[in-house]
Amino acid sequence: MPGMWDLTPGAMRGSRLHARVCDDLLGAVAILFVLDKLWRERSGAGLVGVFTRAEETGFVGCLGLVRTRALRRDTRVIGLECSPQRASARPGRGAVVRVGDAASVFDPELTHALQRSASELRAAVPGLAFQRALMDGGRCESTAYNAHGVRAGAACLALGNYHNCTPRGRLAPEWVEWADHESLAALLAAFALSWNTPAAHAQARASLEPLWTSGRAELARSARRIRAAATRSVPGPLS
Ligand SMILES: [Zn+2]
Repeated sequence: MPGMWDLTPGAMRGSRLHARVCDDLLGAVAILFVLDKLWRERSGAGLVGVFTRAEETGFVGCLGLVRTRALRRDTRVIGLECSPQRASARPGRGAVVRVGDAASVFDPELTHALQRSASELRAAVPGLAFQRALMDGGRCESTAYNAHGVRAGAACLALGNYHNCTPRGRLAPEWVEWADHESLAALLAAFALSWNTPAAHAQARASLEPLWTSGRAELARSARRIRAAATRSVPGPLS
């Protein structure tokens, strides 16, 4: 008979949500929030919420989904999870733009677009925080999607007491900082609205343009120096 730990299903203590299951439940909560928000706003964003089962046993539901080819070929996925906190990603420092997991790094275009949405939100909303990190404490479904040709990025929450284990190996509820969950929901909504718009593409290129204009002259000068040095060091013809 299936059972579960006799831990709180959910309780706020200070700024933290403690619960028997944060991972993967809060990802599902964030998806439902964004779908609800965009529906209420009558948004035209082409967004699909995908809920798969058995993530913890090796994302078996996700592997089943990619085999059905039910997703459109041009689908882009943002995989959601809670992931054990790292030195570079702590609870309380905002939702994490997850650049990769223990197995792979994720789609550069999606990662960059998530990062851009995070930067814009941070500038627009005081107190909203984001972090960007390789969360290599485990694997997530984005690795599976990318392996099957469905381009995927990821976002997550930095999790305390991962899988109900305290740092000392005791049994305890998982916990997240509630503000991180709110920043994740805000990030996903902003991303859904800006993704794949011509303005977003133009902005991505424009953000790199100053690097080229300020650096190209110096690069050309150094290329001439290297060429001149190479010419000087070539031994002349033997006489
Ligand atoms: Zn997990």
